Amino acid sequence: MKSMLPNSWLRYGSNALAGKALWLWRKVVDLIWPPQCPLTGLAVSDPGVVHPDAWVKLTFLDAPRCAICGAPFAYPLQDDMVCGGCIGRRPAYDRARSALVYDEHSRALILALKHAGRTDALPVFGRWMRRAGEVDLKNGGVLIPIPLHARRLRQRRFNQSLLLAHAVSGVTGLDVDPHLLRRLRPTPSQGGLNAVARRRNVAGVFGVRGKACARVRGGRFILIDDVYTTGATLEACAKVLKRADAENVTALTLARVVKPVDPLK
Ligand SMILES: [Zn+2]
Repeated sequence: MKSMLPNSWLRYGSNALAGKALWLWRKVVDLIWPPQCPLTGLAVSDPGVVHPDAWVKLTFLDAPRCAICGAPFAYPLQDDMVCGGCIGRRPAYDRARSALVYDEHSRALILALKHAGRTDALPVFGRWMRRAGEVDLKNGGVLIPIPLHARRLRQRRFNQSLLLAHAVSGVTGLDVDPHLLRRLRPTPSQGGLNAVARRRNVAGVFGVRGKACARVRGGRFILIDDVYTTGATLEACAKVLKRADAENVTALTLARVVKPVDPLK
């Protein structure tokens, strides 16, 4: 039977054909439901793209910052400068990096992902996080999403950290391992707690799964979460990985609560 498809499609074999069919399907979908900016709802060129009007309001985190925890400094200093907080109490992770300042604009993006199921922006988030964690990501390692307790997972239906880990994997090619860590018990909300209370709240909450201990020994890991608030959760996870003899642990988040630090005070 004569095919109804153009010759140029058939020439490249079935994979190319499937690719073109998908491309065509996307064009039809875009015509019916044009892609919208997850922040403004304005029409954009591709799914997940942030409209330029909203993009200029986002604040990307960059140097100058603490060489360990990534806290932004109020003015430029040498690259290896460490903040007073890290000098006083060295974090369990080796380095923490975040793509955005957590403010009303980035908060709206994260809420759209967590509560409105706007997963279309994930590829863009993956690219932003790759840029923020570039130094560690290019050295390789396994991406580990911060685990949710089973009860919370049932309520929310998905773990936003796992979605972000897959987004980072999509642009780096690094593996995601969601089964290496587990949350041993649910924790009360961290909202309104200071750094010390948050650390206490998550102490002993995470563990390395028994069968995964051999995979942790000598390995490099990148913990993935949506927001770094005080770093307590990421530190609790880094601590159990280090106790299981991980060689290097980085914390990488989409956004971070910041208070510019004067490193000389
Ligand atoms: Zn620091």
